[in-house]
Order: sequence, then structure tokens, then C-alpha cells
Amino acid sequence: MTDNICTQCGYEHVVINRKYNGQKLCSSCFRDSIEKKVLKTIKKNKLITKGDKVLVGLSGGKDSVALLNILNILKKKGIIELEAVTIDEGIGGYREEGVRIAKDVAGKLDVKHHIVSFDEKYDFTIDKIMNAQKDKGHNQNACTFCGVFRRQVFNQVARDINATKLATGHNLDDETQSIVMNYLEGNITNMVRIGYKTESRDKRFTPKIKPLREIPEKEIGLYVLESGFEVHFDGCPYAHESFRMEIGDFIRELNLKHPTIMYSTLNNFEKIKPAIKKEYVKTHSVPNGTCELCGEPASSRICKSCKFLDVIHNQLLD
Ligand SMILES: [Zn+2]
Ligand SMILES: [Zn+2]
Repeated sequence: MTDNICTQCGYEHVVINRKYNGQKLCSSCFRDSIEKKVLKTIKKNKLITKGDKVLVGLSGGKDSVALLNILNILKKKGIIELEAVTIDEGIGGYREEGVRIAKDVAGKLDVKHHIVSFDEKYDFTIDKIMNAQKDKGHNQNACTFCGVFRRQVFNQVARDINATKLATGHNLDDETQSIVMNYLEGNITNMVRIGYKTESRDKRFTPKIKPLREIPEKEIGLYVLESGFEVHFDGCPYAHESFRMEIGDFIRELNLKHPTIMYSTLNNFEKIKPAIKKEYVKTHSVPNGTCELCGEPASSRICKSCKFLDVIHNQLLD
């Protein structure tokens, strides 16, 4: 029986059978392969340079836990400084567990950890907003609010600690979904922002990097389990009706018969992106101003989060 033998070292206990490249790996060779692949992605795409201070968005889910653990290899070698931030959006029965795990992981890896709660910073929770919306007949998706404030918090913390890179745990599944989703919606603006690294011409925004972009979601789950981390696998209770989830189901279904489909989607997108970008940049330029209310970067007089704060405090929670 060669079925259960590691193609790398010959050890007789295989934890993964990679249909897309024929590899069968034992636990230790598998963890090794993930770490090597991520470090290779970082090097090849110049995501991190020596001396960088990297801030990781740490939700306590599998992706961000894996990311922090792998970037910690670079920290231990003295190549980078590393800190983590967890945002508590105020989502009962879901986020408490994530915050607890994030604290635990950061502690174990000896990484400086920041926790920012929407309740303390902005005086609302996502639960309160969603309940108020129900009462007042509004039906804005929770992700719309959440996304705007999360981005602002990440960016503020990054600036406060002088981080030079902001790293998120987006995986191959997430990226493939974004590509297909924005293509189907014809959203070119979002499409050109998909990539290994996003840099704004506005220096008030810290460059964002996605080192896990070439790792399938399933393998990240296995990696954290095999590495002995506790993570929570629950999804956000407000995410269920999103278009992204439908696209995710569709791609997973395709993947059963076509195991290389996610890699080809990603690689082909990288090939056509320069052309889209060239065409796009010709006709659009985003003016980067400053919000009159909060002083944060904004593309109009008042930034999006201040506009939302006005709706939240003067219409929803009054
Ligand atoms: Zn092995
Ligand atoms: Zn503002």
C-alpha cells in the first residue's frame, strides 16, 4: 500500500492528498510545505522587506492565526517586527470567542496585541445597529457598516504604531471569489484592487499585503489544526445571505471535478490585470482629501465612516 505514504519523506501517515499536484504529505512535511509556500509568495512578490513592521489583522479565525504563526518565523529570525490587532465589532455569540482565541495565540507567540472595540471607540455595536434597523425598517447589510469601520480602525492602528505593512489572512478561496464576483458584477474599480499587495498613492494608508493568497482555505484549516492551535471555525452570523457565499459554493462545486480551477482563476487574473489597470487608470483618478469632521483620509468632504456614524447615531440609535 503506497496510499498512506508521504511523497516527501516516506513516513506512513498522510494527512493530505493534494489532487491538484499529486502530493501526499505527512503532518510535518505538510506544515513545512505551507510555510515554505507562504515565505516564497512573500519573497517573489516583495511583500515584506527587512526592517518592516508588520501589523496583522487577527480575528482568531484559522486564516489570521496561520498568518501570524508563519510571519512569526520572520520575526524570530530578526527580519521583521510583528504586532497584531483584533477588532471587536460587538457581535454576540461570535466575536467573544474570536477575541479570546486571538489573545491566547498572540500571547503564546509573544506578539504585541491590540484590541479595539466598536463600542468603546464609536459607541455602537453591530448587534445594536442590526436590531435598530429591524425596528426602523432599514435593511442595509451588516457587512457594509462593518467593513467601513474595520478599514478605518486597521489603518489608524497601523499609523499609531508606525507599521509599514498591514497583513491580512485572505486565502485562495477568498481571492478567487473576489475575482469571479467582481467580474460578474462588472466592478472594475474593485477588480484592479485585488492582488498580493495594495498600495495607495495616499501615504496616509499603510500598504496591505496578503501572504496566504495562494493557499486553499481547506489547507489553512488543516495547517492550524496540525500546528496545535485552537481556532474558531464559526462564520459571522450576519454573512449568510451574501452574494460572495453563493459564488463560494459555486466554485467549491466546480473544484470537485476541476481541482486546479482556483489556481487557474488566480493566475489568469494576474495575467490580465495589467491590461485592466492600464485601461482603468487612464480614465479614473481618485482624489484623496481629508474629512472635515474627523481628519481621516476621504474622497469627499465628509468620509464614509462619518456619514455612517451620523446615520447610526441620529437615525438608528436615537
Ligand atoms: Zn513527510
Ligand atoms: Zn470622517
